[in-house]
Amino acid sequence: MDKEFYEGLLDQVSDGVYFVTRDRRITYWNGGAERITGYSADEVLGHSCSEGILRHVNDAGRQLCLHGCPLAGVMKDGRPREAQVYLHHRDGQRIPVTVRGQAMRDPAGAIVGSVEVFSARVTNPYADLARLRGDDSLDLVTGLPPRRLGELHLQTLLTSVTEQGSTLGVLFIDADHFKDVNDTFGHRTGDDVLRMVAQSLANGLRRGDVPMRWGGEEFLVLLPGSDRVGLEATAERVRMLIENSWIQKGDVQARVTVSVGATMALPTETAEELVDRADRYMYSSKKRGRNRVTSDAGELTSTADRPLLGIGVPWEMPGQTDVDAFGSGSVCSGSISVTEPVRQVASTRTP
Ligand code: GH3
Ligand code: MG
Ligand code: MG
Repeated sequence: MDKEFYEGLLDQVSDGVYFVTRDRRITYWNGGAERITGYSADEVLGHSCSEGILRHVNDAGRQLCLHGCPLAGVMKDGRPREAQVYLHHRDGQRIPVTVRGQAMRDPAGAIVGSVEVFSARVTNPYADLARLRGDDSLDLVTGLPPRRLGELHLQTLLTSVTEQGSTLGVLFIDADHFKDVNDTFGHRTGDDVLRMVAQSLANGLRRGDVPMRWGGEEFLVLLPGSDRVGLEATAERVRMLIENSWIQKGDVQARVTVSVGATMALPTETAEELVDRADRYMYSSKKRGRNRVTSDAGELTSTADRPLLGIGVPWEMPGQTDVDAFGSGSVCSGSISVTEPVRQVASTRTP
């Protein structure tokens, strides 16, 4: 059987599959990779995967391109690796995937490149739901439940807090300086950026969480059964995922950050009181510089890396650590060590 036969076969599998050479240029990109990432083979072949294409980031906000490229690690020691990461979709949002890296060898056993296989992870049902089902009860711009639908969920879940003693976390999220996005790129791209934000948000949630579009560039998320630790972790994850989302517009990227307020529902309060408190914390995040989370416990400190801005990030960055950051789920002995000092997240703009 020839190479074309096998490539044709690989195109039929639902997983994404791509090959990189030793200098990390992509030389094969299958149909599954196109479906999961939105990038066609024509757009990526010959490019390196850090060139404004995938830029894997893990759950903790570690930039894998910066902390020892995982595929480079595979090619260095020949050992396979597996990890849970979020990759960048062509439409801008972050997508949760499981990635596996394996070395490719020539007949003599020398490593000539590596293959990465990635599969989409099961995620929140509102991620991509509007597009998949053409569901017109969802908000047309973001694909999320609109406020009137979300308010019904809120009322039901709050009743359960009062009557059954269950727990409910709430996130209030507002896009930072969103007016600037419209002014710079136009209203239509503004809509695309809003959709991107909403989809990265949904992709950072558990299955049972309910995101909704609360107003113009404002979102509310309900986290039934959450405790404060889980609520804060989710708030920081969605902040980080949105910060790492972008839509490529020629040489520039349309991107935005969000300010978040996170609070736990109290058994005796009304929905209005609960949302008002989350909104106040969000506003506190705005006042302190935006692109951050404020919760019942005060302002959160982020340990996530800053996002990689622009295109064509070089592989060997000055100051790059040689840590293999392919994630804690590594099937070999590779592991992450977080060596950076705790750093405050900050908007790329002044407040
Ligand atoms: P801040 O960080 O203080 O929140 O600044 P901001 O610019 O985001 O806040 P402001 O409330 O001044 O502006 C919100 C902007 O969001 C203005 C409005 O045109 C835009 N917006 C609201 N809904 C939509 C929408 O559906 N599509 C687009 N493209 N823009 C929207
Ligand atoms: Mg607003
Ligand atoms: Mg805003």
